[in-house]
Amino acid sequence: MSDIKIVDAPAGIEGSGFFATKLDEAVGLARSYSLWPLPFATSCCGIEFMATMASHYDLSRFGAERLSFSPRQADLLMVMGTISKKMGPVLRQVYLQMAEPRWVMAVGACASSGGIFDTYSVLQGIDEIIPVDVYVPGCPPRPEAIIDGFIQIQKLVQTETGRRRNSPEYQKLLASYGIQ
Ligand code: SF4
Repeated sequence: MSDIKIVDAPAGIEGSGFFATKLDEAVGLARSYSLWPLPFATSCCGIEFMATMASHYDLSRFGAERLSFSPRQADLLMVMGTISKKMGPVLRQVYLQMAEPRWVMAVGACASSGGIFDTYSVLQGIDEIIPVDVYVPGCPPRPEAIIDGFIQIQKLVQTETGRRRNSPEYQKLLASYGIQ
């Protein structure tokens, strides 16, 4: 007869014990400094993003050096520029193709609210079609503002990386967008 005892699996990272919280913090810290952003740039705000990535501002200092142009390998969607209603389904498809946990940043007035383009053909904010975590104001926002938005995302990643996918609030938010 075997001496092996089968015990219940620990509560996992959804639990509240020392192991669960410390593991969650470690994963969150590591993930927040190794984000792979997917830049979805359609117009002028994209130029500010280029400056943000270039040597003077250098977003890679925050661990985001490796841009991903495949949604399968990205965990932060950065939307920059005017999103027309025709482009909306494409953006939503890109978002859906990203694996959890994923975060979204609306960079600039157009992505956040339609900006000056209050017109029939432009989405009045990408949060009409996908959930947004951080909004960066400005037309265009300066690189400092984009970096500040990125730091806000890092804070979210550090605190919710393990619980996000399964939290009832997040599930409810996704459901309100018709996302399972
Ligand atoms: Fe261009 Fe201003 Fe819109 Fe950015 S917010 S895409 S700078 S019009």
